[in-house]
Amino acid sequence: METLRTDVVVVGLGAFGSAALWRLAARGVNVIGVERQAIGHALGSSHGITRLFRIACMEHPGLPPIAQKSLELWTELGAQTGQVLVEQTGSLNAGPPGSEPVAGALAAAAQAGVPVVELDHDELVARQPQYGALGADDVGVWDPGAGICFPEPIVRAQVEVAQQLGAQVFAHTLVTAVEVSGDGVLVRTPTVEIRAERVVVATGAWLGKVVPGLPLVPRRTPLYWFEPKDPASDEFALERFPAFIWQRAGGIGFWGHGSGDGYGVKLGLEHDGHVAGTPFADADEVDRYVHPRGDVDEISAAVAEAFPGLDPIPVKLLPCIVTDSPDGQFLIGHAGDTGRLVVAGGDSGHGFKHAGGLGELLAQLTLGEKPYCDAAFLDPKRFAADSHH
Ligand SMILES: Cc1cc2nc3c(=O)[nH]c(=O)nc-3n(C[C@H](O)[C@H](O)[C@H](O)COP(=O)(O)OP(=O)(O)OC[C@H]3O[C@@H](n4cnc5c(N)ncnc54)[C@H](O)[C@@H]3O)c2cc1C
Repeated sequence: METLRTDVVVVGLGAFGSAALWRLAARGVNVIGVERQAIGHALGSSHGITRLFRIACMEHPGLPPIAQKSLELWTELGAQTGQVLVEQTGSLNAGPPGSEPVAGALAAAAQAGVPVVELDHDELVARQPQYGALGADDVGVWDPGAGICFPEPIVRAQVEVAQQLGAQVFAHTLVTAVEVSGDGVLVRTPTVEIRAERVVVATGAWLGKVVPGLPLVPRRTPLYWFEPKDPASDEFALERFPAFIWQRAGGIGFWGHGSGDGYGVKLGLEHDGHVAGTPFADADEVDRYVHPRGDVDEISAAVAEAFPGLDPIPVKLLPCIVTDSPDGQFLIGHAGDTGRLVVAGGDSGHGFKHAGGLGELLAQLTLGEKPYCDAAFLDPKRFAADSHH
């Protein structure tokens, strides 16, 4: 079997791995990327045409600088590859004043200096007549620099530009083992083995399989698309129905955005602030069937009540995977004690918008550069008591 030698190997070229590959290649590092599927495939976590791109991130005040770095990098990447990768039509967080979407977004915006606009109840009602059943207390936070982004084109562009910068890429190649010792790294595949100084493992829902001991739980979470009851209406076009998260009474929340050129109205459910979904033990065993009742009944009933202008039966749906960490934040940084293994995962359902910024951070952490932002809250070792590393 052929043995290749390089400085860094990136295992898994989804959102996080393709960004790391690009940012390492941009520094002139010798880097090889290995992906078991095609580049930009629909079997992991980074497919389905669009993702919300929020900047005043309710999940943690440390996140806005990472989203801002993604925006900067993807604007550059879009210009280089001749496409719009982030559509900045703004985004809205709605709910009672103390809810996570409202209070969390305001806290993150204040800490990171992100300009947001607070909307009182009447302004919210006037602005979003599509929301059928706003709570009496519901208010809004408008994040004007936010919007939506396009996962498959972003993943493909990151890999393509990395290759132009000299990265070598093996698609359709399963990594069967990552062996890390004080002397170096050996990445095994059925067709080639690679020896390197360092490795970034960014295998998404499969991270716990490649690097055992990390406290990660993959969950099956479908993506859903809907159409207005009145096909002639433009009230659910992106400009009028921008990206949003809406916390409703009873622990149910919605996230979604309106339609545009090449994409439909997209909606998903949250339960108690977490993207709804079914946990499973082994990412290779995720249920890829669509269940016309089990997958649809709950969201249809919720859509009928919340958005009366939409046909509550989705026009299409597609399974996707989120991978939860215990505290809902990503795992980005060194694992083990060799200084050679960096992991990237635990996306917890809100990672895509950060992928560009995380790629830059991963390159810095891998090479021992000073990180451009505080990364301690993402350190995988914060779960040391739960893990074997
Ligand atoms: C329904 C849904 C809605 C979401 N909405 C949003 C949103 O609106 N905004 C947002 O920011 N985020 C959102 N997310 C989260 C976001 O999509 C994820 O955070 C992001 O895609 C995670 O990227 P990743 O690189 O960790 O995983 P992936 O992109 O899945 O990458 C992992 C890669 O590793 C490869 N791999 C696995 N094992 C191996 C192996 N042994 N050898 C080689 N390759 C391997 C896989 O094939 C895959 O390509 C959503 C997720 C879902 C499922």
